[in-house]
Amino acid sequence: MNSKIRLVSGDITRLEVDAIVNAANSSLLGGGGVDGAIHRAAGPELLAECRTLHGCKTGQAKITGGYRLPAKFVIHTVGPVWNGGKSHEPELLADCYRNSFALASQHALTSLAFPAFSTGVYNYPHTPAAEIAVRETLLALEQYPHVERVLFVCFNPETQTIYETLLENELTDES
Ligand code: ADP
Repeated sequence: MNSKIRLVSGDITRLEVDAIVNAANSSLLGGGGVDGAIHRAAGPELLAECRTLHGCKTGQAKITGGYRLPAKFVIHTVGPVWNGGKSHEPELLADCYRNSFALASQHALTSLAFPAFSTGVYNYPHTPAAEIAVRETLLALEQYPHVERVLFVCFNPETQTIYETLLENELTDES
């Protein structure tokens, strides 16, 4: 496995990293799932800053402070809703990772934590979503060598098993 990548189980809001990445909705005004957890943990100042951003398109990303979170920043990106796979979902999900890494680079952030975007209420199938996450992260680590640590946060055991398998295969491919 690429030594900069780690799998972490549990709640993304507890992580002390430069930025956690939020699976936001296009309003950026909070929602359920990981988005709700991040807003609850960051406090109302996060929502106040999000209001000034005027939303975010699917696949794009915007950055705010982390407020009461241990993370310094929150990068908000909007994953695609799974609609059978013929509505550019893979490209849009890849854009979420690319634009999140690009923002992190612009702000000189070196440690990032990602949840499994779109695999909750947006219903993206877990394995293809994780494949895109791993592929885009490996590309980004080549493009942005100053990034030191990328955490994939696995909120449930199923997600963790999928990432473990993908990252083990990546190790085998390299050897
Ligand atoms: P989406 O709308 O993009 O599908 P969800 O928040 O419903 O977003 O789910 C995205 C992923 O985040 C799912 O894999 C879900 O299990 C996970 N998740 C939910 N809460 C948390 C949390 N507190 N920390 C990390 N991951 C979480």
